[in-house]
Amino acid sequence: MTVVGRFAPSPTGRMHAGNIYAALLSWLIVRSQGGSIVLRIEDLDRERSKPSYADQIMRDFESLGLTWDRGPFYQSGRDDAYRLAFDALSQKTRVYPCFCTRADLRAASAPHAGERYVYAGTCRDIPSSEVERRSKLRVPSWRVFAPDAVYRVNDLVQGSFEQNLATDCGDFVVRRADGSFAYQLAVVADDFYQGVTCIVRGCDLLSSTPQQMYLQNLLGFGNPSYAHVPLLVDASGRRLSKRNRDASFDELIARYRTPEGIIGHIAYIAGVLEDDEPAPPAALLARFDLDRWKRRLKARGGMAQLEWR
Ligand code: GLU
Repeated sequence: MTVVGRFAPSPTGRMHAGNIYAALLSWLIVRSQGGSIVLRIEDLDRERSKPSYADQIMRDFESLGLTWDRGPFYQSGRDDAYRLAFDALSQKTRVYPCFCTRADLRAASAPHAGERYVYAGTCRDIPSSEVERRSKLRVPSWRVFAPDAVYRVNDLVQGSFEQNLATDCGDFVVRRADGSFAYQLAVVADDFYQGVTCIVRGCDLLSSTPQQMYLQNLLGFGNPSYAHVPLLVDASGRRLSKRNRDASFDELIARYRTPEGIIGHIAYIAGVLEDDEPAPPAALLARFDLDRWKRRLKARGGMAQLEWR
């Protein structure tokens, strides 16, 4: 089977070192298996996403030599596919309206570290007359029932990881009250329809994988392989974000001068390169070996985090 990976950036700002690192590792892990790459713009969160950021991300990927083979596919244009998946899901298991509020806001974006909580099942057994009454006051979101079953992923980087969906996750949102579809459902439908077989992303999303596998199984999609790479964090241990000015694209260009300089530095931080020297992705690929990289990470302190500097 041919390997297909993906870049899945959220166009909510210009890329920073953390996004480039995730894309570079995806590119290396997928291409080193002879695979191709799909580009998907994850603009489900319509308030935070901007077309101009998506354009900039593509220009940045191109200048960095992070090439893709198909796409861009925009999540904002794929509601029909998500609706089909949602309807299919409703036929396979319990999907019910939920009138609780905060979860909704979160459901559009990938839940990064520390953003998880277990839903108590508050709205699971509301009688239909009550659902009708409440629906007049407020549009509900929709949750899928989480079974008391263990889902196990054999991750290419993190090894075996398992979760009991009922106790570690709880029923989760697949459609938001504003009618849009939640990250967990959208990503599963997209990965399937776009033919993605190998998902490489930061290990803060490892805890979303059992939910996604559960949806894949219900929808008859089959499970892709997963490689959750260590999270790139700042000195205080937090995932890199726009907050970290020294990791911004402008700062990277100012410091490392060329795209090869940026890639080389990030590859060095990631343990892909021994020395901090300019290198285009293609040169890294010629020497990249997943097992060797993992051994190097283990020797340097583990698979959970890498510190940006
Ligand atoms: N769009 C997500 C992000 O920017 C990635 C989601 C995924 O890889 O499944 O972090």
